[in-house]
Amino acid sequence: MPGTELFGAEERKEVNDVLETGILFRYGHDAQRNGHWKAKEFEEEAKKITGAKYALATSSGSTAVITALAAAGIGAGDEVIVPPFTFIATIEAVLFIGALPVFAELDETLCLSAEGIRKAITPKTKGVCLVHMCGSAADMDSIMEVINEHNLTLVDDAGQAFAASYKGKAAGLWGKAGAFSFDFFKIATAGEGGILVTNDEEVYKKAEYYSDHGHSHVGAKRGMEPHPVLGFNYRIGELNAAVAVAQTRRVPQVLAANRKHKKMLTELLSATPGIGFAKIADPDGDSATFLNLLMETPEAAQRVVDAFNNDGVVGFDYWFKNMYHFINQWDHVKNLDTASKLPIQILGAPQDYNNLDLPKSQNVIGRLISFGIRCTWTEEQVKELAAKISESVTKALATAHA
Ligand SMILES: *Cc1c(COP(=O)(O)O)cnc(C)c1O
Repeated sequence: MPGTELFGAEERKEVNDVLETGILFRYGHDAQRNGHWKAKEFEEEAKKITGAKYALATSSGSTAVITALAAAGIGAGDEVIVPPFTFIATIEAVLFIGALPVFAELDETLCLSAEGIRKAITPKTKGVCLVHMCGSAADMDSIMEVINEHNLTLVDDAGQAFAASYKGKAAGLWGKAGAFSFDFFKIATAGEGGILVTNDEEVYKKAEYYSDHGHSHVGAKRGMEPHPVLGFNYRIGELNAAVAVAQTRRVPQVLAANRKHKKMLTELLSATPGIGFAKIADPDGDSATFLNLLMETPEAAQRVVDAFNNDGVVGFDYWFKNMYHFINQWDHVKNLDTASKLPIQILGAPQDYNNLDLPKSQNVIGRLISFGIRCTWTEEQVKELAAKISESVTKALATAHA
């Protein structure tokens, strides 16, 4: 993270292919495009990494999430269970599709837990928008049990879990549809872009139509194609897709380096008293974009964060306070501050968002400090960082006990 750690001749070559023809649009213009179909190639590369039967490139991860919800049949008035720790796009997508977010508890995997989902189910629950947070997949065996037992529609927001998997099956493929982000901060980037994946042909078709004003992409004349459903413009452009093609091809290399660095850091830090780690449901499927430290208490985490800041330790996020990824920072959600009226404001919110009772999530995210893993680190740099972290943590926790 971010994908642009590695950026060069390969990306330029793919972009130049498009610039030479001037065909910036992903559909049609077959004669003029000199055989270059970057959006399609991006989809093929994403299929190789995820093992998905179908992939659809979109203009962003956010539009991939909203398209996935629509294609999965989630819409106005449906209650959708969501986590309180995610990039805000998850919640926005549920709201903007007309559905009603219901916040549930996560656990030390940093993702919704089966127990949390179970407790949030009501007769109006249609589905779950599960987020595979911080690079690792959620605990899918237990979650699928609840999903199947209650016949819920699962949509995977795997925005930050491209190339992550659980027991061999990619994050993103556990639900009816899944979404990945290729924004500037993810394991690979398109500049702006996303990918929707599914193994269900019907869901894929619906997503394809929905993401392009209902166009069916059948026949030679775009203006006269059948339009099976209403849609909107969530298309990716060929320039962004070109960058994504080169970036996606780099993912296996990034993954290998990330995993090596995360393993080293974890081993070097496990001896330091007070440092714990977030639970990884399937360590073999971790995309290793983050090293997630779990301190013993939120108070200890705050002391460690202060020590990092004093000691010049950089490259970490304390989501509980300093980032836009946790519910405590979402006043606009709690107060439903919207630019214009949404269905939830007519139908009524399913929970009192200002008085949510999520003690587990507050505790886990309060204890969480995440370091972004860089694939370009040298072994020396990894060791240096581990030593600095260890020293700061030891000092912070010692003063607390003094
Ligand atoms: C990044 C991200 C998104 C949104 O992706 P964009 O490409 O920035 O629109 C959605 N969900 C999650 C979990 C993300 O991390």
